Amino acid sequence: MEIDNILLNQREFFKTQQTKSLAFRKMYLEKLRNLILSNENMLYEAIDKDFGKSRFDTFTTELSFILNDIDYYIKNLKSLAKPKKVRTNLVNQLGKSKIYSEPLGCTLVISAWNYPYQLSLSPMIAAIAAGNCCILKPSEIAENTMKAMSSMINQNFPSEYLYVYEGGIHETTELLKLKFDKIFFTGSTRVGKIVYKAAAEHLTPVVLELGGKSPAIVTKDASLETAAKRIVWGKFLNAGQTCVAPDYLLIEESVQEQFLEMLRKYIKEFGYESGAEQYTRIINDNNYRRLVNLIVQNKIYCGGSFNEKQLYIEPTILNHVSWDDVIMQEEIFGPILPVIEFKNFNAVLNDIIEREKPLAAYLFTNNAEEKDIFSRKLSFGGGCINDTVMHLSNDHLPFGGVGNSGTGSYHGKYGFEAFSHQKAVLEKTTWGEPDIKYPPYSEKKLSWIKRLL
Ligand code: NAD
Repeated sequence: MEIDNILLNQREFFKTQQTKSLAFRKMYLEKLRNLILSNENMLYEAIDKDFGKSRFDTFTTELSFILNDIDYYIKNLKSLAKPKKVRTNLVNQLGKSKIYSEPLGCTLVISAWNYPYQLSLSPMIAAIAAGNCCILKPSEIAENTMKAMSSMINQNFPSEYLYVYEGGIHETTELLKLKFDKIFFTGSTRVGKIVYKAAAEHLTPVVLELGGKSPAIVTKDASLETAAKRIVWGKFLNAGQTCVAPDYLLIEESVQEQFLEMLRKYIKEFGYESGAEQYTRIINDNNYRRLVNLIVQNKIYCGGSFNEKQLYIEPTILNHVSWDDVIMQEEIFGPILPVIEFKNFNAVLNDIIEREKPLAAYLFTNNAEEKDIFSRKLSFGGGCINDTVMHLSNDHLPFGGVGNSGTGSYHGKYGFEAFSHQKAVLEKTTWGEPDIKYPPYSEKKLSWIKRLL
């Protein structure tokens, strides 16, 4: 069936009001959970074919997230969906005021390839929880996972409710001409702008989960061993193909030598040497070539080897990098960590502020003043003090970017809100209203109004 007909059918189905019932939403969330569990091996095999991601990494960074999301919404659906009573102001007394979380209708999720299951199904789960219909367009670059999701969902759910649409740029371009009630996009800032423009044609609200260059700052007051371990983990997880990976490292000069040695040690300890099974491959030739070109030989501190046949790039640290170097101009999105040294904490924060707002930022320090300055002065989507990446595993925190790294957020109740309209309803009594708001007006009425308002 053509995609515009699928959308048409979803619109008709949404009008039946069935998706609004909490029992309906729960039933489909449970069904999705069961499908994920019963198709676990098929999902592992597909992602392994796409970019050699291990079962361990796939479970911890993809499936566990999705299963948690489902459990969270099943458990909290009643309270999230319940109309919220709020106070009523003086002029509307003796009325009652409520906010209804209303599903938006037909939603579109467009996702990226780097965490294909999490980035596709997590927003779709939030859309279901909030009572919407949904079309999901995963990334064609991770072709096997796209096909795995489309077979799992399209064979088991009615297409007038949920549908996975396979396709690349051409298909997405056509899809974006249609009118949706919400578009949730995860991908690059460049394509985010294309999606935003297309959405504007229909005044469709968007969530844009984009990328950027996320700094990790390590000061001399940090617990250096812990910092090194957590930076190596967050940077080289998924071979650096993580939107919130530390893109580059800012290290205080006095501890630089010592700290780089620690980074080297943890790269070795984690077993990322050539051919290691636990270490993810680069997604395709284009990205492989782009990344290899960023490895400047005379700046290699450690790593630097690569293997085209295996699409393998060794975890690589580049030292003595400056803000003007090519590698500092765009998001790296791969296992190369450039290091810039600094002397002054405030000055280095100013250097970050001069640039586009990052999706994430990480500070390693035990100094309370530095923690405070970092949290207040720097604008970034979200981040951690003394860790990397883990903020997104806490579903009590909103996850999203700011400025060039995105707009809107999700996870937990924020995902529910992203797919809901907050509808305000004021219910008035039909008695007990003074006449002063109605014409004919008089000076006396005006003086009363002034007192009341
Ligand atoms: P991408 O922008 O190239 O592609 C994302 C989606 O857009 C895909 O589904 C693709 O089919 C579609 N697309 C690509 N070009 C298009 C075009 N011209 N018109 C219409 N649709 C188009 O991104 P990617 O390479 O899949 O992912 C990498 C980027 O995503 C990085 O910048 C990364 O930081 C970002 N990202 C952000 C998050 C987040 O949560 N903020 C998560 C993962 C990835």
